Amino acid sequence: MTSSQKAPAAAGAKAHPASQLGELSLRGISRAYGSHLALHPLDLTISGGEFVALLGPSGCGKTTALNCLAGLLPLTAGEIVLDGRRIDTVPPEKRGFGMVFQNYALFPHLTVRANVAFGLKMRGVAKAETNRRVEEVLRLVRLGEQAHKHPGQLSGGQQQRVAIARAIVMEPALVLMDEPLSNLDAALRLEMRSEIRRIHQEFGLTTIYVTHDQEEALSLADRLVVLHAGRVSQIGTPAELYEHPADPHVAAFMGYRNLLPMDVVATDAGGTVAQRPGLRLTGTVVGPRAQVAAGRQVTVAIRPEDLRVAEADEPPIGEAVAEVVEYHGRVLHVEAITPHGDRIHLKARGQVRPGDALSLAVDPDRALFFPPVGEATQPDGGPATQAPGAGGGLGEAVS
Ligand code: ATP
Repeated sequence: MTSSQKAPAAAGAKAHPASQLGELSLRGISRAYGSHLALHPLDLTISGGEFVALLGPSGCGKTTALNCLAGLLPLTAGEIVLDGRRIDTVPPEKRGFGMVFQNYALFPHLTVRANVAFGLKMRGVAKAETNRRVEEVLRLVRLGEQAHKHPGQLSGGQQQRVAIARAIVMEPALVLMDEPLSNLDAALRLEMRSEIRRIHQEFGLTTIYVTHDQEEALSLADRLVVLHAGRVSQIGTPAELYEHPADPHVAAFMGYRNLLPMDVVATDAGGTVAQRPGLRLTGTVVGPRAQVAAGRQVTVAIRPEDLRVAEADEPPIGEAVAEVVEYHGRVLHVEAITPHGDRIHLKARGQVRPGDALSLAVDPDRALFFPPVGEATQPDGGPATQAPGAGGGLGEAVS
């Protein structure tokens, strides 16, 4: 994508200022701590105006990647190129990137206005210009009324907006955000999520956003980079990842709460059949079918909303007893246990009570079969195909 071909804006977005960044290329960047390779070579090209989320569980290398980009950590290998200019040897303060962190790190003794003006003052920007830019940014983050207050007099969400204002008043080519909402309560997180997307668009920013929260990543980003144990699992739009997860790690993030190793017992015109004690089902192979011959193990991934109570005339995939039944409005969320101890999550529309015996069903196109990804072993010692949490029972989605 060239700088003139901007990433797609969110639906319904109005015209926005052009981004000052054309294209940022991460070329095989990696980072080791001693002998531990925390970030395996990462290749990624980001276009001006894009909102990219780095998503993954704790310890997967998100912050390492962001800090490498910011210049806070030297690269072990690779290069970073910004609009044709190599910048990985440039010190952080000369890269011109804005940073917003989890802890807002505001100056408590300065007012909101002075906090936001601080960077411009340090840079020697003239007073009139500073005032103009600070007022504009405060209006953008809707803090005009709070400008005279000190951080201690603000709510968590307002403080976070000051931190964002302080970063964007510098008119950075790129804004880097590391879990900026994790200190806020649930309601405020939702509100600030929309605010961040709005500010990104209205200011024509290019943003890289680190989070372990899949909902946050899916709702904010134009593109997601899912990391697992320092490696990229998949890069794609929210829809691409949601509809076509590349491996069980991505599937776990995309709502496939049921993840289970199974043995392939047949592959023929009727489909691919896999089983484990108490469960037998036909599913859809993800990736090369050649890797799922009978006798191989696959990780089976099913969303709770795709698993249902079987109709009377339908052969069930197995039986389970409802253990926990939660009311979720129109549907019930049911946690059930098979006779072999596998924990299964499903949504039920009819009446289900704890203790009820359930016959389960799933359509073959809604049960994904992930073949083993080579025989490689991940740095954390687990096999590459080990589904998160799948230690013999059905895996839980990563929170
Ligand atoms: P979190 O969401 O918990 O912040 P993360 O995905 O951002 O996790 P990183 O902080 O990038 O993960 O860490 C990646 C890996 O590198 C982890 O295994 C971590 O223990 C290791 N690591 C991070 N910083 C250092 C360090 N300074 N020295 C040694 N190992 C480190």
